Amino acid sequence: MLDRQSSRRMTQLVLANLEEDRCHYCNGGALEVAAYKGNIAIVCDMCETPMAQFWDRTHAAVEDTDTNSG
Ligand SMILES: [Zn+2]
Repeated sequence: MLDRQSSRRMTQLVLANLEEDRCHYCNGGALEVAAYKGNIAIVCDMCETPMAQFWDRTHAAVEDTDTNSG
C-alpha cells in the first residue's frame, strides 16, 4: 500500500505524463489538467473527454496556467 506522499508523487507524475500526451479519442486534442465534476482530472481540450481523474484534495487548487498556443 502506498503512503500519502508516494501516492501524491505518483499523481503528479501521472499528471505530468498525461499533460504531454495527446487525446486518444479525437486524436488531435491536447490533454490538460482541469476540474471535472469537482475532481481534478486530465481532460482533452477538444472533445473534453476525461482521461484520468484524481480525488486527491491536495490538488483541488489548480491554477489556470497561461497556455501560449502557437
Ligand atoms: Zn479529445
